[in-house]
Amino acid sequence: MTAPHVTPEQVWAALATVPDPEIPVVSVTDMGMVRDVSVDGGHVTVTFTPTFSGCPALHVIRESIGEAVRALGVPEVEVRSTLTPPWTTDWIQEDARERLRQYGIAPPAPAGDSPLITLEADPTRCPRCGSLNVRMTASFGPTLCKRLFVCDSCKEPFEGFKSV
Ligand SMILES: [Zn+2]
Repeated sequence: MTAPHVTPEQVWAALATVPDPEIPVVSVTDMGMVRDVSVDGGHVTVTFTPTFSGCPALHVIRESIGEAVRALGVPEVEVRSTLTPPWTTDWIQEDARERLRQYGIAPPAPAGDSPLITLEADPTRCPRCGSLNVRMTASFGPTLCKRLFVCDSCKEPFEGFKSV
C-alpha cells in the first residue's frame, strides 16, 4: 500500500478542526499555536507552541493534533512542541477574538511592540457590557492561563486572558 499524498494545506485544514482543549469555540490554528507543518511523503511533522507554558492541556493538544492528521490517512505523524519563540496573544486570529468575546472571555489586547509594559497596562473590558470598570478577583482562573475578573458595572464575573 502506498502512502497517500497529503498536502500541507490539507494538514492545515485538518488542524483548523482541532479545538483548543480549554476553549472549545476556537481551534489550535485560531489561537496561532501551530507554527509549522512539513510533509515528506507519508511523514508529517507538526510543530506547535503551547499558548502558555503553565497550561496543563499540553498532552491533550499533542494527541488531538496527532489524531487529526492521522485521520487524513497519514501513517507517520510527529508532533513537536517548541517554546521558541514563545507564544504571544498577538498570534490569535482576528475572527477568533470575536468568538472569544461571545464565549464570554475577554480577548487580550494586542501586546504590540512593547511587551515589557503590557502585562498590566492593557485595559481589560467586560465582555458583556464593554465596561472598563472591572476588577481582578484572582490571579489565576480555573487554569493557569486565565484570570478571573468581576465587572463593577453589570456585576458579572468573567474570565480574561493574561496578555503575554
Ligand atoms: Zn459588565
